[in-house]
Amino acid sequence: DRVPVRRALISVSDKTGLVEAARALAEGGVELVSTGGTRAAIAAAGLAVKDVSDLTGFPEMMDGRVKTLHPVVHGGLLGVRDAPAHAAAMAEHGIGGIDLVYVNLYPFEKTVAAGGDFASAIENIDIGGPAMIRSAAKNHGYVAVCTEVEDLQAVLAELAAGGTTSLALRKTLAARAYARTAAYDAAISTWFASQLGEAAPKRRSLSGRLAQTLRYGENPHQAAAFYVEEAPRTGVATARQVQGKALSYNNIADTDAAIELVAEFDPQASAAVAIIKHANPCGVALGADLKTAYARALQCDPVSAFGGIVAVNRRLDAAAAREIIKIFTEVVVAPEADEDAIALFAKKKDLRLLLTGGMPDPLAPGDLFKQVAGGFLVQGRDTSRLTAADLKIVTRRQPTPQEVQDMLFAFTVAKHVKSNAIVFARDGQTAGIGAGQMNRRDSARIAALRAGEAAEQAGLPESLAKGSACASEAFFPFADGLIQAADAGATAIIQPGGSIRDEEVIAAADAAGVTMAFTGVRVFRH
Ligand code: 5GP
Repeated sequence: DRVPVRRALISVSDKTGLVEAARALAEGGVELVSTGGTRAAIAAAGLAVKDVSDLTGFPEMMDGRVKTLHPVVHGGLLGVRDAPAHAAAMAEHGIGGIDLVYVNLYPFEKTVAAGGDFASAIENIDIGGPAMIRSAAKNHGYVAVCTEVEDLQAVLAELAAGGTTSLALRKTLAARAYARTAAYDAAISTWFASQLGEAAPKRRSLSGRLAQTLRYGENPHQAAAFYVEEAPRTGVATARQVQGKALSYNNIADTDAAIELVAEFDPQASAAVAIIKHANPCGVALGADLKTAYARALQCDPVSAFGGIVAVNRRLDAAAAREIIKIFTEVVVAPEADEDAIALFAKKKDLRLLLTGGMPDPLAPGDLFKQVAGGFLVQGRDTSRLTAADLKIVTRRQPTPQEVQDMLFAFTVAKHVKSNAIVFARDGQTAGIGAGQMNRRDSARIAALRAGEAAEQAGLPESLAKGSACASEAFFPFADGLIQAADAGATAIIQPGGSIRDEEVIAAADAAGVTMAFTGVRVFRH
């Protein structure tokens, strides 16, 4: 499986180390053949080198687009020397074998990275180079293929030892060669997609570096790890753990849900706090400061908040930290934190404090992956965002400005609640959340129940849902869910609309004297 190297074809854009390598080959008795620029560089060093044009009988043409794309070159690379028919074809057409190829490609990646325009990017797509690399790699039984000067050094080392290359080395080089052409084409396709803007194809695979092996997955009998993408969005993947026990799989998933939710609210406009349990919020609130927002988020469901994940949208201060540590909390995640807040957490050794270094951008595009047996689903992130102007009021009664604010807040929270999602909210505070039920009426019932219990626990005379807005993340298929919400005290309903029974639901809203807005946008979350 050792083969001699009699003839080498060298065609390189990056000519670093070229002359030394060519000299070593020439001194080993290898005949050199090259393309224009490469040939000139080798000849300038006083070495004998043939021009590919002498082999093909064609000049380089079309600005170098066609130099080596010729049967004499590819036949010399692909011909199976031991196959009689191949050998006969080579002899008949005057095709000499090429035993070594050293090609590095037009600098497409560099051109794009340097901000080259469309035309220069296109001109830097190498065609003949990858073709030769792939031909040589396919025929690794007889040909050694080098795509970097280090590869050539490995070949020279074997040649120095006995004038032949080993099959093992040629196979290794072939694998490297295909990796190079694959990466090259990936760079081209990624760039091309970016040029098309919205029409860009979705990314089709996940890749990341291992950031953390986890003790276990969702359950102790499942192995797990946390992988982080090459250039992660700000969020859970960029978080630095300041203190506390090692993060678990569930911690990371819930922390992600928490920080993504509070990121919906502009920190300049108000402080926002979300408390998450099992990926669903059990309380979300705005406030003038984080302490107030936390107290209001907690009020929504103090029972569920135990052992929860708390996310805030502003630099965490000591006043808020002092409140948070009053109950058992698994994780606190913030963009950053004051020193005295950090000092307060230090007393709670188990509590994990994560600082992300900034807030996630809820409008940033990106892909979401979900695995199914034997494959995975990809979808764009839900970057929908509503303003008052997007609401279509479908009832006789128009909403008050306060109701409009409450509806938008409730719907934004509902976007982060597992379907079926019903969220009551009033004055920038969730009043009751019903998550993950298999029918919307049950979600509404649970949300109403929570709102009532929260009021009882706070010693308030009436349900938190009284005078609230109620959001449904998908349309009410029947009037019953809406009636449930109105009975619980909601005066404004926000939902996508679009059910075949919309008329019936609108009539029920009018009958109950509530106002209702259609968003035209559904925010399922499964
Ligand atoms: P040189 O500097 O020798 O004139 O050109 C070297 C470059 O040309 C190498 O990067 C090689 O991959 C590329 N190349 C060789 N043959 C062809 C071809 O037929 N078409 C194109 N587009 N590039 C080629």
